[in-house]
Amino acid sequence: MATIFTRIAQGEIPSYKVAENEDYYAFLDINPLAKGHTLVIPKKMEDDYIFHLDEKTYTGLWAFAREVAAAIREAVPCKRVGVAVLGMEVPHTHIHLVPLQTEGDLDFRKKRPEVSAEEQAQIARAILNAYEKRK
Ligand code: AMP
Repeated sequence: MATIFTRIAQGEIPSYKVAENEDYYAFLDINPLAKGHTLVIPKKMEDDYIFHLDEKTYTGLWAFAREVAAAIREAVPCKRVGVAVLGMEVPHTHIHLVPLQTEGDLDFRKKRPEVSAEEQAQIARAILNAYEKRK
């Protein structure tokens, strides 16, 4: 059965897209830890545990995540982009990319900042522009 993230990558469910290529898709987290918090996924779901992915999908996912992280860093003021892989909630492999000012920004138990839909759209556009420019 298609996961919610497969349906997002297929455009059946709306998302704030920040980058895409043939095999991978990146979009803003709906409940961000920080402004610009992005999820990076393989479009085709093989396994929900990242370390079970086949070699090609695994290395491709991380290579794409690196390009997206560079675009985030250009578009969102931050010291660096942090990485987390949890998968406790959505059973579709995904990498979290979180713009960091301090290490506490990667605390998944903390209160999340309020980010309006308008601001999410604006941040997504800025990251997408930076991603497209780098290509
Ligand atoms: P986890 O599976 O523990 O890595 O967490 C799943 C993440 O996906 C959470 O940070 C959610 O806020 C995020 N999330 C869940 N549904 C959506 C959605 N429809 N669009 C964007 N992000 C989502």
